[in-house]
Amino acid sequence: MATDIFETFESQVRSYCMNWPAVFEKASGSYQYTEDGSRYLDFFSGAGALNYGHNHPELRDLLVDYVANDGVTHSLDMKTPSKRRFLETFERVILEPRNMEYKVMFPGPTGTNSVEAALKLARKVTGRQHILSFTNAFHGMTLGSLSVTGNSMKRRGAGIPLTNSSKIPYDDYFDGNIPDFIWLEKVLQDSGSGVDKPAAVIVETVQGEGGLNAARMEWLKELSALLRRHKILLIIDDVQAGCGRTGTFFSFEEAGITPDIICMSKSISGYGLPMAITLFKPELDVWEGGEHNGTFRGNNLGFITGARALELFWSDDSFQKQLAAKIETLREGLEDIAQHVKGATLRGRGFLTGICFPDADTAGKVAAESYKRNLLLETSGPEDEVIKVMPPLTIEDDDLQKGIKVIEDAGLAATGQMSEPSRLRAPR
Ligand SMILES: *Cc1c(COP(=O)(O)O)cnc(C)c1O
Repeated sequence: MATDIFETFESQVRSYCMNWPAVFEKASGSYQYTEDGSRYLDFFSGAGALNYGHNHPELRDLLVDYVANDGVTHSLDMKTPSKRRFLETFERVILEPRNMEYKVMFPGPTGTNSVEAALKLARKVTGRQHILSFTNAFHGMTLGSLSVTGNSMKRRGAGIPLTNSSKIPYDDYFDGNIPDFIWLEKVLQDSGSGVDKPAAVIVETVQGEGGLNAARMEWLKELSALLRRHKILLIIDDVQAGCGRTGTFFSFEEAGITPDIICMSKSISGYGLPMAITLFKPELDVWEGGEHNGTFRGNNLGFITGARALELFWSDDSFQKQLAAKIETLREGLEDIAQHVKGATLRGRGFLTGICFPDADTAGKVAAESYKRNLLLETSGPEDEVIKVMPPLTIEDDDLQKGIKVIEDAGLAATGQMSEPSRLRAPR
């Protein structure tokens, strides 16, 4: 099958397809199928945009009907029944049971749109410019989001100075040798510190791109309390860790904190459709009409699948319970594998987890060996030193076991302990 056009015509900016050269034609549940007939188990899940797997049949049928019946597709921010349905469902299924009171904003279709809106709003509300973010953070590729992102290669891509933000150490940045927040607490109190009082701090509870560092719940609690004392807004970027990825709908639920602003995207449409929301406390809603506009804020296809996905998976706690059992299986499996490699450690939380290898090349090799065995697996971290394991939250138990076995084999092959790939193949 021809693939030249991708190599010769499409820009060299592409990345995922460099490691996974197959041409994927169809997808269903936890699997993707190539046009030449092989099957790949997907432990990547669209970087978290496919938490409920590919083409969930109920969501797909809903879409097909909606389109066949001439339902509105594009609506800017105009009123539509599908937007009503999404808002009502989000309030009823997600916010009310958690006692959360937030306004919903549709900032544009991507995660970085949600982050940009959050940063703008925090600056407008406080009248301050500075934003603090964390070492190894990732918040998106547009200029505002890049300014709060850590990765040096991605920052260089901006081509201009990224200003009005500073980086502070994420949980355990100093391996427990320096008490948390000692610097932050001090400079906020010291009028001579030269650090401008920030409008907000933006944080991921698990750093999806930055190496799967997972913040401890006590750390998040302490951060939240510290910011409250200093009247600095807390923005949680739940774009990747949210929508159940860590085991609860919001990744910060266990910490019992109430962020001022929450960014969500990736799996919020439930179907891999482009959609994002920014949530904020009602008193922060100081926008003027049209002050943050965007042509694609009204993706009705995303509204209908998003609303249905919330009903299907989050109306009661049965899905969350099943997920907890799967998370345990995965963690145990990865723990076993990590024990075989000296210095390897488990990272992350929930179904946003992986293994960090002492030799940075190992993770890439494990991912490549996994691909050879028909498993899609990404790497993460500043040196790509972590394998990132993100199965669909809806994965069947035996597929989960199969995938873990492949990672084990790939790990053995990558570390020179095994050579013959036993391919994960199954009839179509
Ligand atoms: C993916 C991601 C973003 C950016 O989302 P895009 O849709 O790629 O713009 C922002 N924050 C986090 C934590 C992400 O994982």
